[in-house]
This record gives sequence, structure tokens and C-alpha cells, in this order.
Amino acid sequence: MSRTFYARGQTGQQLLLGAYQALSRQIAAGNIEMHPRTEMLDLIVVDGRARGIVARDLVTGRIDTYFADAVVLASGGYGNVFYLSTNAMNSNATAIWRAHRRGALFANPCFTQIHPTCIPRTGDHQSKLTLMSESLRNDGRIWVPKAKGDQRPPNEIPEDERDYYLERIYPSFGNLVPRDIASRAAKNVCDEGRGVGPGGQGVYLDFADAIERMGVKAVEAKYGNLFDMYQRITDEDPYRVPMRIYPAVHYTMGGLWVDYDLQTTVPGLFAIGEANFSDHGANRLGASALMQGLADGYFVLPATINDYLARNPHHDAVTDEHPVVQDVLAETQDRLNLLLSVDGDRTPDSFHREVGELMWEFCGMARTDSGLRKALERIPQIREEFWRRIKVPGTGEEFNQSLEKANRVVDYLELAELMCLDALHRDESCGGHFREESQTPDGEAARKDEEFGYAAAWEFTGTGEAPTLHREDLAFEYVHPTQRSYA
Ligand SMILES: Cc1cc2nc3c(=O)[nH]c(=O)nc-3n(C[C@H](O)[C@H](O)[C@H](O)COP(=O)(O)OP(=O)(O)OC[C@H]3O[C@@H](n4cnc5c(N)ncnc54)[C@H](O)[C@@H]3O)c2cc1C
Repeated sequence: MSRTFYARGQTGQQLLLGAYQALSRQIAAGNIEMHPRTEMLDLIVVDGRARGIVARDLVTGRIDTYFADAVVLASGGYGNVFYLSTNAMNSNATAIWRAHRRGALFANPCFTQIHPTCIPRTGDHQSKLTLMSESLRNDGRIWVPKAKGDQRPPNEIPEDERDYYLERIYPSFGNLVPRDIASRAAKNVCDEGRGVGPGGQGVYLDFADAIERMGVKAVEAKYGNLFDMYQRITDEDPYRVPMRIYPAVHYTMGGLWVDYDLQTTVPGLFAIGEANFSDHGANRLGASALMQGLADGYFVLPATINDYLARNPHHDAVTDEHPVVQDVLAETQDRLNLLLSVDGDRTPDSFHREVGELMWEFCGMARTDSGLRKALERIPQIREEFWRRIKVPGTGEEFNQSLEKANRVVDYLELAELMCLDALHRDESCGGHFREESQTPDGEAARKDEEFGYAAAWEFTGTGEAPTLHREDLAFEYVHPTQRSYA
């Protein structure tokens, strides 16, 4: 049985095409006004309610305000805080982080999903990682050489010298264990020195058995498009040699705290899809993100936002002249001006990469008390250096990607700190959050439900200041959390 339904490794793409078509239809019908290449830079909160946003036209640099009776953020996840991830390059945390700074609590920021089947990185030049569809684990077998440092080509390593480690450790689930388990297991074998490919940061995903069992034609029919993509990127033919894969940051389960109406703690501000923290707990299952996005936007929000509007009629229109709006506009402009004026010697990307690598090392697949403390010591230093050495060429009144990036890095440098703080305080392992101190004798995640059975919702109190933790206790009436076992 297949682990999940999929459309030839293009499930997400097909869903997106459907969503784009529905959106285009509404644009054509005059129900939606589209503002492409426009980035939200701040939230406008008047009298305690969300009443609009400040946004920058990325082509002309013009800063505009948009007012409304309610604001919905659907700005996606924050995986790009790690610099390298499977997310689109433009995905960023600015919208939710700015909303957080304006009063919206941020829940479970450390819950990050690392996807096990990505094409390994090849060097420092890379700015993006490519996901190979999870569906490949239905038929591919994952292995590494049994011996450390075995440099032989895969086809020359005999069967009894291969370690199909997922099948060995998790005989009932084998290669289909959840993403966090598959990812950590890959990290463990690579840490042992048994990784393959450049830098030893990879494991094999082998289709030789599937080809023998099903025949090339059947494998091609099922995965041909993915094999072609892999070959185009790596110049290796997965019909002949095993693919190489390695885990990469893929999804963020944390996000803005919302109630069942998908409303944040700022009245009138709603967050849907990956931007919010709801639904997935500490580990998202495959295929459920797009369904959450569709359910949030199609079923939940139309009912709950109407309820909010009915109960909270706004009588006063907000305009640019409102003192709050003037303040938000001035803050935005000042921040951009400051970024342009430092005129230092380091690019936004260099800072982004530095904080990303720090996060990958200390707040990635496995986390420790001492590692997180190291990161928490280092991040404010990077932030301080950022404001001394950042170099943004050009002006704010034009298409300026350096300015866009620098402004996003400002937010990553604060968000990264909150993620580490959250990971440090959650002294248990659960889902994608693995604290090395909290594991069973077999090396599996050890939960501490008595102590940590809550969503951690953090309140912003100032840059570099300790945020305030609010605990939302989780009540389980029917199905109670238990220690996972995939053995
Ligand atoms: C490679 C890949 C494959 C995936 N495959 C699957 C799958 O098969 N099944 C599944 O369920 N899930 C999958 N996921 C996860 C899923 O795609 C995402 O969780 C989902 O798209 C999130 O939807 P969203 O609408 O919340 O946010 P997004 O789709 O991320 O959209 C957010 C949009 O907001 C824009 N934005 C961000 N910040 C701002 C700002 N400040 N101002 C203006 N715009 C902004 C972004 O540019 C983006 O266009 C995949 C993810 C990736 C990266």
C-alpha cells in the first residue's frame, strides 16, 4: 500500500495549479485585486485591532498602505531562516515576524520539519536545496556502506556490506518511517562516517530492487519525471546508480498562534496555512500542509471572519493621516534608510548564510542545551555586527534585491533567537524537536508530556529582550499522546 496519495511527485504542483486557477477566476470576476511583486513590511494596529498593512512595491520601491476591516496573513513558513531549505527563495518571515512584534503571539517556533529526501548540497555556492518527492520512499531502499569511509562506487559494494539501516532499525515501517525519524537516522549514519558523496553528507536511495521487481517501464511510469529531474541536477542516472539524498529544512510547524477561528492574539488579524502554528503539532505528516491551507482558506475563514466582522463593526475609516499609521510608515522608512546608510562591507546573503549555518548546526535535526546556549550567545553578536557592517548598494526607490534581502535578514536575526530559546526551554523530545538529552536507551525521542504538554506561545517584549512565555495546555480527551514506536 502506498503511504500517501500523490500525482507522480507533483501533488503539490497540481494543487497549486488548481489554487492559481481559482484565484485567477476571482481576479477576472473583479472580486480580488492582485498586487504582484509587493511585500508586506509591517502591520497596522489601531485601537488594538488589525486595520491594515504597510507594503513595498518591489519594482518601484514605493511604500504604500492598505487598509481593511480585517487582515489575513497567508505568507507561508519561515524555513528560510536556515538559509538553505527546500522553500522558494522568496519565502520569508517578515510578515509574521512584524505581526509578532505588533502583538501577535508566536507559537512553538522551534518545531521545524527536516525532510529526508532532498538532493545533498554540493558546496557553499548553493542558495537553495531541491526536494525529491517523498513518494520515492515507497519503492526506493535507503542504505549506506557498513564500513566507515568506504569510498567504492555503490555498484561495487556487495549486498552484505550494505546497511539498509531504516529496514534494520525499524523492521515494521522500514523506509516509510516518519520524516523526522528518517532524517535523524540519515544524520546519525553520516555522523558515524558512513555517509556517501561529497563531504560524506548523503545516503543512497536505491531503485535497483524496484526495477528488478516491477521492471523499468513501471518504475518510469511512476517516478520517471522525478528521475529526470534528479539526472538534470546531478548528472547521475538513477536508473543505473542509486540516488543520493540528505535531509533538508522543509516546513515549519510553528507560527503565529491562532484560535479555532484562525484569529491571532491581535483582534482582526487572521493567519492561515503554514504561517500559523495550528494542526500539525510537533511533526507534520506528508501531504497535510496543502490540505490545511485549502481547508483554512476555503472552509474555516469564510465563516469565522464574517463572525468577527459582524461582532466588530468598524465605524471609523483609517487613513494615512492617522498618527498610528504615520508612526508605522516612519518606522518602516527609517529601517530601510538605515540599511541603505550603513555602507559596510558584508552582503545580506553573507549574514543570512552565517545565521542559517548556526541554526542548522545548533537548532537543526538534533539540539542540545549547550549547543542552543552557544547559538543564543552568538546570534546577538551577529545582529550587532549586521548593523555595523551591512552593505546595501543602490537606493530604496528602485528594484533593489539587496535591500529586500537585508530587510528580511533583520527579521531572521530576531526570529532565530526565539527559535533557539523555544528549543532550549522545551527540554524534551517530540516530533521534529529532538533534544539529545531526552532520548530513550534506543536513541528515540523521549517525550515529557507531564511537563511540556502545552503549546508555547511567546510574546514579543523588545529586540534582545526575553520574550514572555504563555502556555496553552493541551487537553487530550480521547486519544492520548504516547511514546512513538516504529520498531
Ligand atoms: C518543494 C516543496 C514541496 C512540497 N510538497 C508538498 C506536498 O506534496 N503536499 C503538501 O501537503 N505540502 C507540500 N509542501 C508544503 C506546502 O507546499 C506548504 O506548506 C504550503 O504551500 C504553504 O502554503 P501557504 O499558502 O500557507 O504558504 P506559501 O505557499 O508559502 O505561500 C506564501 C506566499 O506569501 C508570500 N509572502 C511571504 N512573505 C510575504 C510578505 N511579507 N509580503 C507579501 N507576500 C509574502 C510568499 O512569497 C508566497 O507566495 C511542499 C513544500 C515545498 C517547499
